[in-house]
Amino acid sequence: MTGEPPTALPAALWDPGSDAARAAVAQGIHCLPIPTPFAVGRVNTYLIEDDPLTLLDSGPNSGRALDELEQALARLGHRIEDLGLILVSHQHMDHVGLVEILARRSGAEVAALDLLAPWLARYGEFQDADDAFAGAVMARNGIPEDTRLALQAVSHAFRGWGGRADVSRPLSPGDEIVLRDRTLRVHHRPGHSPSDTVFHDGAQGTLLAADHLIKHISSNPLIARPLDAPLDDAAVAAGLTRPQSLRIYLDSLAATRAMEDVRLVLPGHGQAVTDHVALIDERTRLHRRRALKIHRLIADRPRTAFEIAQQMWGTVAVTQAYLTLSEVLGHVDLLLNDHLVGEEHDADGVVRFRSLVEPSA
Ligand SMILES: [Zn+2]
Repeated sequence: MTGEPPTALPAALWDPGSDAARAAVAQGIHCLPIPTPFAVGRVNTYLIEDDPLTLLDSGPNSGRALDELEQALARLGHRIEDLGLILVSHQHMDHVGLVEILARRSGAEVAALDLLAPWLARYGEFQDADDAFAGAVMARNGIPEDTRLALQAVSHAFRGWGGRADVSRPLSPGDEIVLRDRTLRVHHRPGHSPSDTVFHDGAQGTLLAADHLIKHISSNPLIARPLDAPLDDAAVAAGLTRPQSLRIYLDSLAATRAMEDVRLVLPGHGQAVTDHVALIDERTRLHRRRALKIHRLIADRPRTAFEIAQQMWGTVAVTQAYLTLSEVLGHVDLLLNDHLVGEEHDADGVVRFRSLVEPSA
């Protein structure tokens, strides 16, 4: 369940003719959009022409993705073998699937958040744990068993689009990656996934943000198994403890909003962002409105997160079930934290939310 979920939203493409794209190229940063099997469409990988030659993200693990990446590099006069450094933005398979193949062919260093290194090294085991966690969270929140089983099968079938990788250069927040022509500072911005990492070139005012901030879609605050939970953590496996992904994401957005020297944001999908403060404010307002709407549904009568999702979006495709559940739970967390709603549990351990105060008008 850790793959980039298919979304119902239309894919938007990087526009190489835009002023923002030209500004990136002037800095030696080329967006290489790589095909994915997901509804989100292409993933933006970025080639940084510097020393070492650096690639941010890889595309999914498929022959077509590898082929297109190779052709895109060739158009710029490079080969996979020329890569000296591969940066990983986060754990989703459309971003990391080819990392191992590219690293093997080029001998490039692989730099990723230190917390993510064990997950990448033991991809299969952690995928099993992630699926078990997601299944438990779904069961606790009222998702019917047939939907859960169908989703687990989908997750299993998609696993091959990702892959394991060895991280040779573990990164900590605050680290600097010094290239010949620029220095990238590492920031951890979890929320969309537990491992979201952004790379900031303060001198140029450029932020390589991947899926932390996307122009045409609100980044899904997917509820994912914590990276630092041991594989045998029973409470996590049972879904009894889970991260408040949306709250974590909003904190990360606030940290990005407060950054100075950001004029160009290069995202993991779609077009560049040139006014990140306005976009972050818009997203913050969207989440506040959505929390209020969910509070009204809960005030109407106690509901499970699954019932809230059905009320909000109707019957969604099976593949969307975890996505919409994460969305609902994220907003319910905000209401829980503000003591506006409370939890009750039925005999099967299914959680219902009830309102503690009248929703505001
Ligand atoms: Zn992602």
